Amino acid sequence: MLVGIGAFSQSPIRREIGPLGRPKKHLGQHFLHDRAVVDRIVAAIAPRPSDSLVEIGPGEGVLTLPMLRAAGRLTAIELDRDLIEPLRIRATGLGTLELMQADVLAVDLATLAPRGTKLRVFGNLPYYISSPILFHCLRHADAIEDMHFMLQHEVVARMAAAPGGKDYGRLSVMLQLACSVEPLLQVPPSAFRPPPKVDSAVVRLKPLPGSGMPQASRAALDKVVRAAFGQRRKTLANALQGVLDVDAIRACDIDASLRAERLAPEDFVRLAEAACI
Ligand code: SAM
Repeated sequence: MLVGIGAFSQSPIRREIGPLGRPKKHLGQHFLHDRAVVDRIVAAIAPRPSDSLVEIGPGEGVLTLPMLRAAGRLTAIELDRDLIEPLRIRATGLGTLELMQADVLAVDLATLAPRGTKLRVFGNLPYYISSPILFHCLRHADAIEDMHFMLQHEVVARMAAAPGGKDYGRLSVMLQLACSVEPLLQVPPSAFRPPPKVDSAVVRLKPLPGSGMPQASRAALDKVVRAAFGQRRKTLANALQGVLDVDAIRACDIDASLRAERLAPEDFVRLAEAACI
């Protein structure tokens, strides 16, 4: 259930988070400036001093600083080198901020988890690469306790969608097999500078126990799901041609005349296992 943030919460954060320059469109920079939204996100994450927190895209630090204040330690990965030094200065005295100037897609997240701990990952994600970032995090799901992300509302709807509807697709299947998906909060464009063209939403993802599949099955799952939804108006018998024949689909107890959108995420696991044989 998404909870809307309304007009009552439009107070900009000026004291410690002033603009650091012109937002860079090509880096997906839409900086959050609504204190009520920030407070809701921090409360949803509920950081503890023992947490291994990793932020993706700290930007001007609107989430970084309150999270750092609460937890005392945080690692943040930011691609824009112009933001690194100002953020370091803003964080002075609040705790230990480890700032990595890097493309998050090139960072092996598992190496950031101190021995015996799991990461709590969060961020207001750059929307131009939100799906690659989600899949990157999923590849490191074994090392992650939970994730809280701001994304386009439409992406969160697809992540949480149930079978049968137009929003249900590859993202829903792959996410739901790996994580619990909990939409938390809907956020209007006015909460950001500059405002994006679309509504946003905050979602909580928790990797499911045992969701770390063997590499071969994961590759097969990816292949089957891509093929099935690549041509979503076709029946499985047609869409999966070259991947699985009709007999193999039937042997999985699945009707080959159905479309992919009718299948539960677990059905795709059976198809992937059959494709591995
Ligand atoms: N967290 C800040 C906020 O809420 O105001 C900034 C959010 S802004 C939507 C996305 C941030 O991700 C920007 O600071 C941008 O520079 C950074 N970013 C873009 N691409 C990135 C990448 N590949 N790796 C790491 N950070 C990236």
